[in-house]
Formats: sequence, C-alpha cells, structure tokens
Amino acid sequence: MKFITLRLLRNEKGSVTVLIALVITALLGMAALVLDLGLSYYESVELQNAADAAVLAAAWELPAKTTRPNKINDVKDKAIEYAQKNGLTITRSDVQLTQTIDNEYRGVAVTAQKTVNYSFARVLGINSGNVIKSSEAWVGGLVSAVGIVPLGFDYNDCLNATEGQTFIIKEGAHSGGGGWRGIVELDGDIAGGASDYEDWLANGYDGEVTEGDTLPVQNGNISGPTIDAVNDERVTQCTDTQCAGTCSKSDATTTYPAHQYCTHDHYIIGCPRVIVTPVIEVIDPTDSNSPVLVKGFAVFVLEETVVGGGGDNQIIATFVKTVVPGEAELTATIHDFGAYGVRLVH
Ligand SMILES: [Zn+2]
Ligand SMILES: [Zn+2]
Repeated sequence: MKFITLRLLRNEKGSVTVLIALVITALLGMAALVLDLGLSYYESVELQNAADAAVLAAAWELPAKTTRPNKINDVKDKAIEYAQKNGLTITRSDVQLTQTIDNEYRGVAVTAQKTVNYSFARVLGINSGNVIKSSEAWVGGLVSAVGIVPLGFDYNDCLNATEGQTFIIKEGAHSGGGGWRGIVELDGDIAGGASDYEDWLANGYDGEVTEGDTLPVQNGNISGPTIDAVNDERVTQCTDTQCAGTCSKSDATTTYPAHQYCTHDHYIIGCPRVIVTPVIEVIDPTDSNSPVLVKGFAVFVLEETVVGGGGDNQIIATFVKTVVPGEAELTATIHDFGAYGVRLVH
C-alpha cells in the first residue's frame, strides 16, 4: 500500500511539473500579448499624434504653387520640424503634397512608421513589430474670422485677383463711387461710426464675422483715422527683421530682393501689416447705402503707408493667399478667396 502511494505521488509530481511549465508558458504568452500589444498601441498613438502635429503645422505653409520647389520644401521642412518636436524623425520623402487645385497644392500628408521592440513576445519568437500611421491636412476657404478690418473687398475683383497684385482697398473721395469708399460696419451697427472704424482698422474687430452675414456700410472718407490706423498702428509697427541679402523664401524661378520688413513675398502671420478683409457683394449696386453680403475673406499685406489726405486718401494693399486663424470649410472650389483655414482630414 505504501509502495503504491509513493508511486502515485511520484507520477503526480511529474504531471504537476509539466502542468506548471504549461501554465507558465501560457501566462508569459498572455503577458506578452498584454504588455507588447499595449506598447504597440501606445507607440501607435504617439506616432499618430506626431503625424497629426506635423501636417497641421505644415499646412500653414499652404497653398504652395506646384512650380515653386523651394516653397514645397518649406512645407516639407515644417512637417519635419514638428514631427521632430513630437519625437518622430521623418525625411522629405515621408511628406507628400496633395490636393492639387489650379496648379496649387492645398493638402499635405505624412506617413510615419516605427519599429516597436517587443519584450515578452520574444518568448514566442517575435522580436519586433511595425507600426504605420498616416495623417493629412488640407487648407480650405475661411468661412468665419475674428480680428478682421472694416473694409470690404469686392467679390468680382477677388475672383480675378492674383498673388502680388495691388488693390485700392479703400478709395479716396475723388475716386467716386457715390458716398461709399469701402468701409463696412462689422458689428452690424452704424452708430459706432468713425471711432469704430479707426479701432477696427488699427486693431482688428474683436467679434466674429461669418460668410452669409449682411452688414451695413459706413459712408464717407474718414481720412484722418485712416492715416492714423494704417500708418501708425500697422505699416510702421512691423518689427519682423526679414531677409538682409536676397529673400530666403526665393525659389528657383524668382529671386526676391532684400527686404527689412514684411512684404507680400515674405511675411509673418500676426504682423500688423497682414490684414484680413471680408469679401463682399453689394446687395443693391444702385444704392450707395446698400448693405453688403459677406461671401468670404481675403488677405492683404500693407506695404505702403497712406500718402494722401482728404480726397486722395486711399489704402493700397497687396493681395496674398495664406492660412490665417479662423474656421475653414473643405469644399475647395467655393469659398476660395485667398484666406484659408487648416483642417485635419485623416
Ligand atoms: Zn511684419
Ligand atoms: Zn524674405
């Protein structure tokens, strides 16, 4: 009896050892799955965040003409810079420009991959895995904006405007056009008059203006406030020291001259020289008091001070296409008036 019991125990001991070995292997396998899949998930989230940050930053350099390789490299380098800030190393070949409309790229995409070195999964003979993530951002027409100036830019002029073209965005009294010189009441109330106009022209209107808004106009020349706001608060307030030699933003086909301040070739968003105007359509062109319909937004660079007072008082500005703060819509063929916003698409 004793003999039999011992034999049974001995057998059971063997079985238990095998069982324990199996359980340990299963547990390690599960630990491998849990820990290494967790690690992969964490890495993929990090990678996605870095790719998103890269395209969102790079899109601020859009749109980019397909014929300007240096501009295209600016976009790519911005993506590389912001990927790096988020711990991801990419090269220009990982950045693609997308969404070609009218010979301009309006989208930027980044594909990023990372090798995740496994720890526990090595037990199962799997040493590493690949995580691949991509992200894309587009620029679309701005549909609402804050901080804009109270000057309406005519819809028909805007449709034909090209970058670098100069426009008179506020007429003088001698230029005719009835009593209206281009001034719009951004808060919808004409009571503020000249003081609202000067404040908004100098500092930007702090309320939001949205596509589809109907705004009353402010008749008159308002010469003195125009000079004060544009000359003292905008043109001479640019402190951006730009390119001392030829412009660093020049490309293979165009070389821009040296410029001490912001110009339409090279400017910094946020500079007082860069202004956003509503693109408007006069609802009743036969009525000089007609309200205007906001159809979108345009961006100008003020390169010149206002030189004329009284009847000759006018603001000359250069049309540019750029991303500015505000809400965008991604239907790229409409709302395209030169002011863009950035949206993440995937
Ligand atoms: Zn500036
Ligand atoms: Zn420059």
